[in-house]
Amino acid sequence: MSADFDLAIVGSGFAGTLLAMIARRLGRSVLMIERGRHPRFAIGESSTPLANLWLEILADRYDLPRLRPLSQWGIWQASHPHIGCGLKRGFSYFHHSPGKTWEARNDRSDQLLVAASPNDFVADTHWYRPDFDAFLVEEAIRLGVEYQDETTLTACDIEADGIQMAGTRHGTPFRARARFLVDASGPRGYLHQALGLPEAQFEDFPRTRALFSHFTGVASWAQDNPVFGDAPFPPDDAALHHTFDGGWMWVLRFNNGVTSAGFAEVSIPSAASVSDPARTWSRFLNRFPSIGQQFASAQPIRPWVRAEPLAFRTSRCVGPRWAQLPMAAGFVDPLFSTGFVLSLLGIDRLARALENGCSETALAAYETETLADLDATARLISGAYRVLGKPDAFEALTMLYFASASFSETALRLGRPELAPGFLLRAHPRIAPALRALLADAGRAPDDAWIARVAATIEPINVAGLCDPEKRHWYGVDTADLLQGASKLESSPEAIQDMLRDCGL
Ligand SMILES: Cc1cc2nc3c(=O)[nH]c(=O)nc-3n(C[C@H](O)[C@H](O)[C@H](O)COP(=O)(O)OP(=O)(O)OC[C@H]3O[C@@H](n4cnc5c(N)ncnc54)[C@H](O)[C@@H]3O)c2cc1C
Repeated sequence: MSADFDLAIVGSGFAGTLLAMIARRLGRSVLMIERGRHPRFAIGESSTPLANLWLEILADRYDLPRLRPLSQWGIWQASHPHIGCGLKRGFSYFHHSPGKTWEARNDRSDQLLVAASPNDFVADTHWYRPDFDAFLVEEAIRLGVEYQDETTLTACDIEADGIQMAGTRHGTPFRARARFLVDASGPRGYLHQALGLPEAQFEDFPRTRALFSHFTGVASWAQDNPVFGDAPFPPDDAALHHTFDGGWMWVLRFNNGVTSAGFAEVSIPSAASVSDPARTWSRFLNRFPSIGQQFASAQPIRPWVRAEPLAFRTSRCVGPRWAQLPMAAGFVDPLFSTGFVLSLLGIDRLARALENGCSETALAAYETETLADLDATARLISGAYRVLGKPDAFEALTMLYFASASFSETALRLGRPELAPGFLLRAHPRIAPALRALLADAGRAPDDAWIARVAATIEPINVAGLCDPEKRHWYGVDTADLLQGASKLESSPEAIQDMLRDCGL
């Protein structure tokens, strides 16, 4: 192994590996260091239209054609059938009360279905990360990335013209040097520890925790329920959420018989003393009988993971000769599956900074944008935790996410990124202040007037027919909504039609 590289990347999750491949395409020598070994379990599985679009953009821009099929269910199945995957047609939510069996109300007010794609072929996916990340690492090695796994890094010295890493590999000393280091090792990871970086807090964010694993034997939620016969998509072929006052659960099915499931909730100090995760899990299932039924025959197939506190934010994510990818800089919550897109936005920005020699100014801009994106996500999710017990207010809050995400995706597809500045439109001159005000008010017992304000606020960016009472909580993909919203995107119905054709629709 050469001991001197242009770039060292610590952590070989999907984000570090993707950046490693991009750096190779930019002609840099790259060392990627991993403490574990692939294939390995990783959490963070559910993709979104915006994340998939960014994967496409990066694959195209940096000539990574073997990665592009991973952005859609149909082409993925045709090109890489050996990589475990789940079909994600959208987001489905079911509201539960403790001790009560879930039964679909006639007015559907205890459920919400939001489609993200009109058919299976162009649908989003859940990434089975043991397969997915191992594939990316193989690709990275193929592109010339020097890969060192099972390596424990213990020290890090920043020098004027580079950074020195030291540790051990298989019991022997390991040393390497690079001109720049990217920390892709996740929350409270390598540089957080090695440099003693101070942690910060998301403003006004509750303390939350999560418990999760992979299972076999999880029953379908909706398959035999005639209520969903004409739903816009099968609710199980989705990121399926069970919501309840103070928390929520995810259920993500893969095509290999494995289901990822877990719950996140506001930590209640008195309940923190239950240290046995299996007991905590079974108490959770007992609290919600219908969820208990869905998991009656389920078996965890790997050790439980308990994450408390779940959220994390660093106070700084760049320094002389180093930067952290977004997941190393902070994580809010899996609600709304924001992790991938934040990582991809970070990769886009860091790749551009690398192209321009990682100047101090470029790194400072990277830090500002990365932390601002995380803070915007935290404001949304903090609002969500406050309204999870009220299905009507929670549904309204989700519309803030769906409106800004679908508007951003369409603007990007139309080649007009400037219409959607910042993740969740956090830098939009008119929409951002209104969204902030709404989210601040979500904490004060949101009422019908607040819900009406949501519809009025998103109107200028609502290109997906959201907040429509006639849809009765089921939102399919209707191209008529997009065509009607053309002027909101400073576009024309013809341009929208062209864009849809380019997307294979
Ligand atoms: C409970 C939970 C659920 C989530 N669900 C979703 C979701 O549904 N959708 C979504 O978009 N996002 C989700 N996320 C976020 C998602 O996990 C991240 O966006 C994604 O994993 C980031 O990828 P990464 O490569 O940066 O980090 P990771 O996937 O965490 O990879 C980090 C890698 O670094 C290695 N490493 C760690 N420390 C060291 C070290 N000191 N030295 C060397 N190597 C090291 C690890 O072994 C690992 O391989 C979720 C996160 C959590 C916590």
